[in-house]
Amino acid sequence: MTFLFILTTAVCLLTGREFLSMRADDVILPGPGLTAARALSDYFPALKNTPGDTPVYVFAGGREGGHMLITGGAHPNEPAGYVTSVVLAENIRVARGKVVIIPRANASGFTHSDPQEGSPQRFPIATARGERWFRLGSRVTNPVHQWPDPTIYVNPKGQTLAGIEARNLNRAYPGKAGGNLTEKVAYGIMALIAAERIDIGVDLHESAPEYPVINAIVFHENSADIAATAQMELQAEGLEFRLEASPPNLRGLSHREWGDAAGIRAVLLETPNASHGRLKGKPTVSLILDGRDKYYEKAARLGRLFVPFGPAGIPLKDRVVRHLAGLKAILTALGEVDPKKAMEVESLPPAARVGTEGIGACLR
Ligand SMILES: [Zn+2]
Repeated sequence: MTFLFILTTAVCLLTGREFLSMRADDVILPGPGLTAARALSDYFPALKNTPGDTPVYVFAGGREGGHMLITGGAHPNEPAGYVTSVVLAENIRVARGKVVIIPRANASGFTHSDPQEGSPQRFPIATARGERWFRLGSRVTNPVHQWPDPTIYVNPKGQTLAGIEARNLNRAYPGKAGGNLTEKVAYGIMALIAAERIDIGVDLHESAPEYPVINAIVFHENSADIAATAQMELQAEGLEFRLEASPPNLRGLSHREWGDAAGIRAVLLETPNASHGRLKGKPTVSLILDGRDKYYEKAARLGRLFVPFGPAGIPLKDRVVRHLAGLKAILTALGEVDPKKAMEVESLPPAARVGTEGIGACLR
């Protein structure tokens, strides 16, 4: 009896510690180009001391130019967008214009993982001075922080959605000051867009290989010129991106409401992530990093996917390469379409360098 009691206590302590470690934040080491480290609650104080608050990194240049917002981690189970925004925050210097980065847009979503998926809680990236670890979270806000879900969620723009979408940041825009936690986060991001006088927002995402909106630039109609210019530039570099117009009647998404409610240009980038698709095999750290999966290979052979998927898979590294190249093309296109809003961003890690040396070579 005593033995069983000791055993149970030991198991509870060990698993409890493991569980609570999900709430520890990853270390992000912004580079020397950083001009201000803020929090989302600086723009919307109601987020202070809540699990929705999250770091905001500002990189301002000496000369006037365009202001760009980059959000990673709106969906914390899409690691390429998150890792790309960390790589940017740790490297860039801005000479003209301003870049504002929110690596963990839905910070609460990073503190848990999707139930019954068996996903790893974190994944390592090797650097010259040892491994860095990054959290793999859930697509939605932690239910411990926002509960219960309604049967039907009516978002701030009146769109009716499944109850769980009440915790989906990318359905909550333009947010609501007195709304649920996820809506408050969306509201805080809208307040930041106004306060930082953002001209263009780029929301970094990933989607499952069987989902049609993939390897794509999704654009608000006010950004069609930028998306098309960027697409041509990317094509010249050998990267195919499809263009997807943001549907006007699908409300609550960043590329819709940043454009409609805040009046800024808005685009969203999607890369293919096998580790959160429905057809995947066992979700492992290697699936996240190497992106190899025999079931996706089979699905590709059967013509069920919207991206090529061979034995080499689609590694995280290649997806970060796509995001970096996409961002650079959008930045260049902004200056071509609207020369007053031209930006100069230095030390932007070349996509090719990530491709050859790996993500770790571009982390501090
Ligand atoms: Zn997403």
